[in-house]
Amino acid sequence: MKIIADTHTHTIASTHAFSTAQEMIAAAAEKGLYAIALTDHGYAMPGSPGKWYFECLGTIPSTFNGVRVLKGVEANVMDFDGTLDMKDEVLKDLEWVIASIHYGLCKGKASVEKTTNAYLNLAKNPYVKVIGHSGTPKFKYDYEKVIPELARNGKLIEINDNTFYSRKQSCENCVEIAKVCKKHGAYIVVNSDAHFSSRVGHCSSAFEMLREIDFPQELIINSDESRFKEYLRQNGISLE
Ligand SMILES: [Zn+2]
Ligand SMILES: [Zn+2]
Repeated sequence: MKIIADTHTHTIASTHAFSTAQEMIAAAAEKGLYAIALTDHGYAMPGSPGKWYFECLGTIPSTFNGVRVLKGVEANVMDFDGTLDMKDEVLKDLEWVIASIHYGLCKGKASVEKTTNAYLNLAKNPYVKVIGHSGTPKFKYDYEKVIPELARNGKLIEINDNTFYSRKQSCENCVEIAKVCKKHGAYIVVNSDAHFSSRVGHCSSAFEMLREIDFPQELIINSDESRFKEYLRQNGISLE
């Protein structure tokens, strides 16, 4: 199993990642990827880039070094209503919006009920494409309730390779999430969440887990170029 597009990566613009956009794209080209999404952190993450950064992402060619470069963000979920830290007027011009809950940024005391509510509201957000690394134990949600609803609304559920290294306490939930996706035929997207160029396209731990639960290839949106392009087409995103 492999990915043909890495749709969750960070550059030095996030200030806790260490490669430039050019280095990340070059790494994607070297690994033969069709696409890479640059998804630096939304405003609420300390050290994240400002409004002008996201508004000027169009400066980067849509295809560079033979790689389709999707301009995006990893927006922060700020509360249990599913409010994001980026305004719709900025999100509407981005091609790839991931919504993630991060420790310390989501206000209020978490409960399964409240986190479920946040994700059900995010299912209705027209700008969100992906629910990022949602296995965090503190932010556990009702998978049986949320995942079919995300799928119905065309949202992708992320299996994040970085989780297997930096969020090990989430791994058990990731297996459960993947199993619920398999059960309901919900599309997932497997990403590196690379913070350095050598990690671009690196998803071996995520794939190992998916193999163990016999996860169907055809539900991995970015494991096949024609499937991924079809998703882009359906979402009105240019292929080149
Ligand atoms: Zn994240
Ligand atoms: Zn990330």
